[in-house]
Amino acid sequence: MKSLFAVFLSLLFSVAASAQTMPAGGDPALWQKALKLHGSALIVDGHNDVTTPMYDEGFDLNSDSAGRYHIEGTPFHTDFKRLKAGNITGNFFSIYVSAEYAQTGGAMARAMNLIDTVYREAEKYPDKMMMAVSTADIRKARKEGKVAALMGIEGGHAIEDSLYALRNFYRLGVRYITLTHNNTNNWADACCDRNEDGSPKRPHGGLSDFGKDVVREMNRLGMLVDLSHVSDDTMRDVFEISTAPVIYSHSSARKFSDHPRNVPDDILRLLAKNGGVIMINFYPGFLDQRNLDEDSELDAEFRKELGEILEKFKNDADSRNKALRELYSRNPIYFPPYSRIVDHIDHVRDIAGIDVVGLGSDYDGVPWLPEGMNGAEDHILVTYEMLRRGYSEEDVLKVLGGNFMRAFEKAEEAAKIGSREISGEGIQRKIQ
Ligand SMILES: [Zn+2]
Repeated sequence: MKSLFAVFLSLLFSVAASAQTMPAGGDPALWQKALKLHGSALIVDGHNDVTTPMYDEGFDLNSDSAGRYHIEGTPFHTDFKRLKAGNITGNFFSIYVSAEYAQTGGAMARAMNLIDTVYREAEKYPDKMMMAVSTADIRKARKEGKVAALMGIEGGHAIEDSLYALRNFYRLGVRYITLTHNNTNNWADACCDRNEDGSPKRPHGGLSDFGKDVVREMNRLGMLVDLSHVSDDTMRDVFEISTAPVIYSHSSARKFSDHPRNVPDDILRLLAKNGGVIMINFYPGFLDQRNLDEDSELDAEFRKELGEILEKFKNDADSRNKALRELYSRNPIYFPPYSRIVDHIDHVRDIAGIDVVGLGSDYDGVPWLPEGMNGAEDHILVTYEMLRRGYSEEDVLKVLGGNFMRAFEKAEEAAKIGSREISGEGIQRKIQ
């Protein structure tokens, strides 16, 4: 989610800090309790896009990212120090392959480059980060106080319609694939693609036959099927055929923001039956309808002026930020507080049970975060707010990582059974 307006808002809300601080007006005793619980938890974040600047901009996780901006002007949310402050052990590095590669070619190479980038960072900092491909690896990393570097491909077109490639991605350590990004591909419909006439582009009515083979093969391998970014019908098709729990690595509930990236209640119920997990996305537009509406209104209205400012001050960040602040102060939009994340947790619990909720921040993939959050160090605010609302410690631990671990473990087990058989005939067939 990137818009010009988003870019300058992000400038306003980022501050140079990477420590946990109690929210203003907070309860000090409860905060202490939150610190203790959060510090003891095994935490998994379903989606982090910092991989892209690591490859494209040479960003190093061992550097200080607080107060630093991506090349397009959005603030960084992640570095080793901030992951440590947020006590995030399992970090899914997104292997994000944008839709344009489906047009130009090179999707698989792009994925390969990002995968290598994650490995090289782990090789460079073996005392801070280890490659992880299993629940056992995540537990080991937790014990050793390291980041467990997990990888998930974002954009199913990266396999270039090849189950052979899918298996090789698994062998390289990829443990989930979003079947689509926002673009519909040759075998699965996406949430948000459009035909030239503006109508939704969903030619498969969900998954094609080959798409179903992809899901079966992922089940067989023990690779999680990720339903973030797919259409509702694709979700339904997957729930019908998947023999393992599935995940939404970074999606929120549609009740609060009517965006096709979010998940409606009837599908949350299917997820409960499947035993999977929806990892709540922190993007304000997905968390809150008012933010989504006001952002899109302003985005259209101020595009020109924003573009001029960004162009004029492209080499002068201070002047740019000042001009953007001035523009913003004339036209403020609503930002939901971080507690809105817990509204989503409440809702998913009410509809589908506490066992299906997790967290998938989308750090460094979203241009800004809810009010009160600056980056990975602020993960604890979810713990604090859940305790404040009376959640049991056990339930908080489930949301922070326990539910994901259970779903991943089940997928590993399903694979142990499935892998005794060779792949279905799908592997013998190629598209193209
Ligand atoms: Zn995404």
